[in-house]
This record gives sequence, C-alpha cells and structure tokens, in this order.
Amino acid sequence: SREELKNRVEKLGYEISQDYQGRELHLVGVLNGAFMFIADLARHLRIPCQICFLQASSYKDKQVSTGEVILMHNLDLSGKDVLVVEDIFDTGLTLKHIKEDLKMQKPASLEICTLLNKRIQDKIDIYVKYIGFEIEDRFVVGYGLDYAEKFRELPYISCLD
Ligand code: 5GP
Repeated sequence: SREELKNRVEKLGYEISQDYQGRELHLVGVLNGAFMFIADLARHLRIPCQICFLQASSYKDKQVSTGEVILMHNLDLSGKDVLVVEDIFDTGLTLKHIKEDLKMQKPASLEICTLLNKRIQDKIDIYVKYIGFEIEDRFVVGYGLDYAEKFRELPYISCLD
C-alpha cells in the first residue's frame, strides 16, 4: 500500500544515510521503472548525494524476459560511491549487466538497492545490499512499474492478474 511504501522507503533512506555517512553518494536510477522509488528515496537521505540515471531495456509488452538487456547512459562514475537504484530484482539479468558495465568505470564502491525482490527459483547470484520488500512470483505494476507502459503512476503496487 501507499503507507507501507512510505514507511519502508523512509527506513531504507535512514539505513543508507547511516552507511554512507561522511561520503557523497551517487545514486544511479534505472529507468524507467525506478523513477518514483528513487525520487522518494532521495527525499529520505540525510547525506549529500548526486542523482543520475541509466536506461535499461524492459520486458516491453510481454510479461516474460526476452533475455536481452540493452543499457544506455553517459555516466562517469570513476572514484565515486555508487548506489544503483532498481525497481525489481527478478532473474537478476538486468542487474548483472548493470553491475558489469558500471564496474568498468572503476567506482570507489558499487552497491545495489532494489525496491522489490521477486522470489523465483532461478536467480542469478548477485549481492543486493538493500531490499525494500520480498514478493512472490507474480507480475506487479504501479509505483513506477508498468505493463505495456501503463500503470506507472499508481501510488501503490498491485498484481496484474
Ligand atoms: P530481471 O533482469 O531481474 O529479470 O528483470 C528486471 C526488470 O524486469 C525490471 O527492471 C523490470 O523492468 C522488469 N520486471 C521484472 N519483473 C517485473 C514485474 O513483476 N513487473 C514489472 N512491471 N516489471 C518487471
């Protein structure tokens, strides 16, 4: 619900602020799905930060992964403390590509924060430091997440089926 999201995002902001105290954090939002989450998360940080974005290909109109990930950005994160902000960790394919891509820029540190972690059987083994909610294996929309570009505006998260 709207309330649960608000409370959890606030807690994540507090936790991240504690962990990165005394450092400047570079939040890298994964477009399009993470736009609402990163906006709310940033408002709960108590440390200086910079906010930038990269674009990752989505499932488009399908509810299953095509296995193809295309990243677009012109970031320079060399020597920065980077926190990737993602909407949902499903198979992990997207995050794996993002991590490998950003690592090449030699950031001082590189961690991941995902709003949702979907419980599925075959997940790629990636360390995700911050997780908002664990969810079951269902297709969700709202709070930035879409189905065929619809439902992103919902202030809560809902199952499509
Ligand atoms: P992964 O690469 O981890 O399998 O999938 C990550 C991406 O797939 C997410 O960033 C998101 O765009 C999309 N995705 C995965 N599961 C869902 C879901 O339940 N709902 C929506 N709307 N997108 C999803």
